[in-house]
Amino acid sequence: SKSNQQSSRGECVKVVVRCRPQNRAETAASLRSIVSVVTSLKQIDVEDPRIPSGADRKTFSFDSVYDVESSQHQVYHGSVSDVVASVLHGYNGTIFAYGQTGTGKTYTMEGGVDEASKGIIPQSFAQIYTHIEEQSHEVQFLVRVSFLEVYNEEVRDLLSKDSKRALEVREHRSTGVYIKGLTAIIVKSAKELEKVLEVGKKNRSIGATLMNQDSSRSHSIFTITVEMLEGVTKESSGHTRVGKLNLVDLAGSERQSRTQASGERLKEATRINMALSALGNVISALVDNRTGHIPYRDSKLTRLLQDSLGGNTKTVMIANIGPAETDYEETMSTLRYANRAK
Ligand code: ADP
Ligand code: MG
Repeated sequence: SKSNQQSSRGECVKVVVRCRPQNRAETAASLRSIVSVVTSLKQIDVEDPRIPSGADRKTFSFDSVYDVESSQHQVYHGSVSDVVASVLHGYNGTIFAYGQTGTGKTYTMEGGVDEASKGIIPQSFAQIYTHIEEQSHEVQFLVRVSFLEVYNEEVRDLLSKDSKRALEVREHRSTGVYIKGLTAIIVKSAKELEKVLEVGKKNRSIGATLMNQDSSRSHSIFTITVEMLEGVTKESSGHTRVGKLNLVDLAGSERQSRTQASGERLKEATRINMALSALGNVISALVDNRTGHIPYRDSKLTRLLQDSLGGNTKTVMIANIGPAETDYEETMSTLRYANRAK
C-alpha cells in the first residue's frame, strides 16, 4: 500500500534521463550519435565509440527516459506535475537538472519564450495558478518565491540589488536551516512569477560578469513556497499547510582536467565536484536508507535543501545527456551518477 514505509521510500526519489538532439556543430562535424533511448523499456543504451560495430553497449534503466524528440510538455507531465501537485497538498518537492554543460539543463528547467518551449519552471507556474483559481473559494493561498545561487559554496540572492553579497546560512532550533536576509517576494499570478524569474536571471548574469564568473559553474535554486489556509469558520481559525517546491539547475558536472584548470578555477571545479558528489551521496542514502545517517551537512546545496529531500518529500533528478560520440566519457559519468541515485 501507499502508506507502507518501504514503498513510500522507493517512490520519493525518481531518476529520469533526457537526451538532447544533436546540435548544429555536431551535425556539421558529422559526429555519430552513440545514445539510443529505448522508451518502451525505460532504458538508455550507449555505444562505446572506441569499439567498432557497437559490440560493447552499456544499458541503464531509469524511472523514465526522454529521447531527442521529447517535448517540454512530455517531460513536465511525465515526471514533474505529480511533484507540483503534492506541493499543492502541503508537501515539499525538489526537481534537479544534472549534467555536463551544454546538455540542456537550463533548457529543461527554464526553456525558451514560446509556449511549446517553456521549461519546467514556467510550466509549474501555470499548474500552481490553475489550482489556486480552482480552489480559491475554499482555500486562501499565499505564494512566496526566492531565487538564489550557490557559487564556490557561497550563497547569493538573485532577487536582491546587491546580488554580489554572500549570505549566511543559519540554523534555527525549531524551524531548521535558513538563509539570513534572503529576499522572499509575494506573488499573485503566474505572470508575476515569470517576472521574478526574469529579474533573477538578469541578476545572475550581471553578477557573474561583475565577478568574472562562469554561471555554468554555479547551482541555482528557484523556490516557490505555497501556504494554504483552509477551514476558517466562525468557530475555527482554520488550519495551515505549507508546501515548498525547489527547482534546481545544477552546475555543470564535467570533470575539469587538472592540466587545464589551475588556481581559482581548479578550486572552483573541485568544490563543484564535491557538492555534486555530496548530493549523490544524500540521494543514494535516501534511496537505500541503509545507514540511517543522511550526510546533508557535506555541502551548502544539500544543507539548504535538507527539508526538501527525504522524509515526506518527492525528488526528481533529471539527468541530461548529449548524443555525440565525443561526449562518451561525460555521458557515461552522468549515467553512472544517475544510476547510483536511483
Ligand atoms: P546547459 O544548461 O546544460 O549548459 P543548455 O540548456 O544551455 O545546456 O542547452 C545547450 C543548448 O542546447 C541550448 O542552445 C539549448 O537551447 C539547446 N537544447 C538543449 N536541450 C534541447 C532540447 N531538448 N531541444 C532543443 N534544444 C535543446
Ligand atoms: Mg545552463
